[in-house]
Amino acid sequence: MPTTHTGGCQCGKVRYQMTADIGEVIACNCSRCGRLGSLLTFVPVDNFTLQKGEDALTEYQFHKHNIHHLFCATCGIQSFARGKRPDGMEMIAINARCVDDIDVDALPVKKFDGKHLR
Ligand SMILES: [Zn+2]
Repeated sequence: MPTTHTGGCQCGKVRYQMTADIGEVIACNCSRCGRLGSLLTFVPVDNFTLQKGEDALTEYQFHKHNIHHLFCATCGIQSFARGKRPDGMEMIAINARCVDDIDVDALPVKKFDGKHLR
């Protein structure tokens, strides 16, 4: 069942609310996620509300520039990213480690080989 969760960066400048059924999280080994150690869950853009912090975010892009990696300019935490699925649907990649009320270590982790994505 989808539930409403809140989350954000470490210092609190970036806060969001989202509705999702977080059944598992994705561990990607690409040059960014592998370094960050983020565990991802994806939600459609309509299920995500940035409550505050749009002006606190700094954007970073690499590779094909498909994903807008956003991190808090104050505390450096990347709590979510914006991107599109191959079919064009706009998605938010949530860093499940930044969600307030869940125990990420209790969730099954699915590995994604982003390192070898072309
Ligand atoms: Zn912050």
